[in-house]
Amino acid sequence: NRRIVLASRPTGRPTPGNFRLETVTCPSPAEGQVLLRILYLSLDPYMRGRMSAAKSYAAAVEIGQVMEGGTVAEVLESRHPGFKPGDIVLSHSGWQSHAVANGAQLRKLDPTVAPVTTALGVLGMPGFTAYAGLLTIGQPKPGETVVVAAASGPVGSAVGQIARIKGARAVGIAGGERKCAFVRETFGFDAVIDHRAPDLAKQLAAACPDGIDVYFENVGGKVWDAVFPLLNTFARIPVCGLVAQYNSEGDFEGPDRLPVVMRQVLSKSLTIRGFIQREFVAQRSAFEQEMPRWIAEGALKYKEDIVEGLANAPDAFIGLLEGKNFGKLIVKISD
Ligand code: NDP
Repeated sequence: NRRIVLASRPTGRPTPGNFRLETVTCPSPAEGQVLLRILYLSLDPYMRGRMSAAKSYAAAVEIGQVMEGGTVAEVLESRHPGFKPGDIVLSHSGWQSHAVANGAQLRKLDPTVAPVTTALGVLGMPGFTAYAGLLTIGQPKPGETVVVAAASGPVGSAVGQIARIKGARAVGIAGGERKCAFVRETFGFDAVIDHRAPDLAKQLAAACPDGIDVYFENVGGKVWDAVFPLLNTFARIPVCGLVAQYNSEGDFEGPDRLPVVMRQVLSKSLTIRGFIQREFVAQRSAFEQEMPRWIAEGALKYKEDIVEGLANAPDAFIGLLEGKNFGKLIVKISD
């Protein structure tokens, strides 16, 4: 079994030295367990939090432990009545080539219904994050303006497209002309802005002539600064992620703007609500019905960025936090 463990905790930006590739023997499955060969590993921004010892909503990965992550795997050997060799499953087996897992924690995937990689992206955790966060907290209405950054990624691309399905205008923010063009042309957003543009705030104001009703917060930083003055009365802000600050340690630069923000929260009756996707248990079955249908109807598109080989996972992950990925980042571990 080849696996990547956390070798040390990063300070700021992670480096390849924070990870270590090891070869160990894989245990045999006990009663109720299965032996898995990992086919695909999902890389997601939340993994930066797991590398850090700071208190969070989930436990940190310990030094020397396998890096955590969602995976699609093939059953090699089964001691669970629900699975047989050859079955393809969704598991949470982490950055490794093989794993033993409890059958009760696996979900069987049908490769004839959808490409199995979609279970890590548009039909999996990131797609559900977009669906549940936008519809439960954002509640976009026809004619309203919805803004989302990281718009070429799995969460942002689904947010904008679902907003349009609900009759709202979608304005995306992405890094670089290639991503912006894709968000406009393939994902069909009404307007797209490059966050690297020096006049980001001016361009955003021009793209949102009626202000912003829903800001789906994925990044924080200067994007939030550009959005904030444009928020309308009764705007809703699902706070999903703050990827611009995941590599910052402790103190943040700049003046304390909390009093200014709080004054607007009060005077504009803003709703700002953070969430972790797994809280939305009640939205699960609606997601499982609607999302595949929207894809089948062509109303919702997705893009995957597949990197080959477990050894390339650290560099791909480091790049994810800086926008080097283009679409849902997945590592192909084996055929
Ligand atoms: P993406 O695949 O979109 O990757 C992250 C993207 O963030 C990068 O590609 C980059 O895109 C953008 N980015 C990075 N730094 C900056 C910056 N300084 N300013 C603006 N954009 C930046 O990731 P996901 O779709 O998987 O995740 C999107 C967000 O959703 C993340 O914040 C993630 O943590 C959060 N999330 C939250 C969940 C929850 O339960 N709350 C669950 C899942 C995800 P670009 O090149 O366009 O700048």
